[in-house]
Amino acid sequence: MKKFFKYSGIVLLLFVAFILFRTLTFKSRQINEPQTALLQLDDSCVVHLQKAIRFKTVSYDDPKLMDSAVFKGFQTFLIQSYPLVFSKMQLEKVNDFGLILHWKGKSTTAKPIVLMAHQDVVPIEEATRQNWDADPFSGAIKNGFIYGRGTIDDKGSLIALLESAELLLKQGFIPNTDIYFVSGFDEEVSGLKGAKVMAKLFENRKIKPAFVLDEGGIITEYKVPGLKKTAAVVGIAEKGYQTLQLKINIPGGHSSMPEKTTAIDEMAKAIVKLHEHPFKAEITPIVAKFLDFVGPEMPFVSKMAMANQWLFKPLILSSYSKSAAGNATIRTTIAVTIFNAGIKENLIPGEAIATVNFRTQPGVNQQEVIAHVRKAIENDSIQITPIGDWNDPKQVANVNDETFKYIQKTISAFHHPIVVAPYLVLGATDARYFGNLTSQVFRFTPFTDPEGFHGVNERIKISEFKKGISFYYELIKNYQPKS
Ligand SMILES: [Zn+2]
Repeated sequence: MKKFFKYSGIVLLLFVAFILFRTLTFKSRQINEPQTALLQLDDSCVVHLQKAIRFKTVSYDDPKLMDSAVFKGFQTFLIQSYPLVFSKMQLEKVNDFGLILHWKGKSTTAKPIVLMAHQDVVPIEEATRQNWDADPFSGAIKNGFIYGRGTIDDKGSLIALLESAELLLKQGFIPNTDIYFVSGFDEEVSGLKGAKVMAKLFENRKIKPAFVLDEGGIITEYKVPGLKKTAAVVGIAEKGYQTLQLKINIPGGHSSMPEKTTAIDEMAKAIVKLHEHPFKAEITPIVAKFLDFVGPEMPFVSKMAMANQWLFKPLILSSYSKSAAGNATIRTTIAVTIFNAGIKENLIPGEAIATVNFRTQPGVNQQEVIAHVRKAIENDSIQITPIGDWNDPKQVANVNDETFKYIQKTISAFHHPIVVAPYLVLGATDARYFGNLTSQVFRFTPFTDPEGFHGVNERIKISEFKKGISFYYELIKNYQPKS
């Protein structure tokens, strides 16, 4: 017995030593770049963004509501504001409002790069309009912020890109490789006429970019759990999107003589069961990569957990499950978004319909989602029908590739200190359509903790906006393609 304790003591000691060894050798993946000086910019860029905000380039689910005149006006404004961009680059319009600007580089053989930002914005929710501190389409400046729909999503980025290009052209700069600016006009309603068609065009022309950069990730001072440093999260993949309609028909009738069960009862039960059977939480390869990048930068105890994911997996998953964003990172999510039944108070309806939206982990396809629902609800009388537009993007960027390192290096030169990490984008972006052209599709805008995204008081700090121009300027200027 004594011997047993002796040996188990040694095993425990070795075990602890192993955990510590892994923690202490958990190598930082960060790049220590010398700080780049920011451009000295006057306020003409600010005026440009203010003007851009005043064009109500709103996307609606019903395409008939699109105001073409506003989009036309917006594009005239862009042409007038960026004369060098629109005279030196080749402009191609796709479906009237999709813009491709082709900037010829020195190399005729190197792969080009694609920089993206969309022109459209989401509408203002009328019920919350009075909560805005400034008119959402005024571009008003308050306390060092530019206010308005689109300042963050995504005109801030679009204008910053054009400002940097105009400045470089003014300086006589010629990029090392071809650069394409791609700007969609229906990103907020799936990008079917904009980015999707433009990506197809690239595909038909056999243009294979070295990398694509679109919106998605941000810089954040506090949003990464367990990390006490500023982080830049760069999307290397995005979640898929699917919607299912669940429908049940049970003869209804007068509410004075209800049957044992009704369509509403059955559908309600199904929804509860769906809620009780979430998709499995997992540390997917993308999440593992994220943890590999942020882990070494964390305080000791968190670092130990990240360095030993095999052991602390349950702990990591339970901590991520606690927040909506964390939960969405580790599993396919289920959200019931529409629930319809009944038309009159004394009439039992014969039909109940629920619409359920899923955001899938990369690799989860429509059949798997349907199978999961079928098993969870345990009711074969409920019809399950896919509706609307769906996608399951498969592209995941390689973080060991030099293009990721280049993005990381460029970000690191702007913020000191900063932790750059690859991550999974929870929403959908126009960039997904370019996943057929290259695996190196990144989603990142160079702004810190943007506020009011799709909500009230969307705004960007003027200093952040200017910093973003510097970021794109350096990104374009220093890019050396692999020959
Ligand atoms: Zn957007």
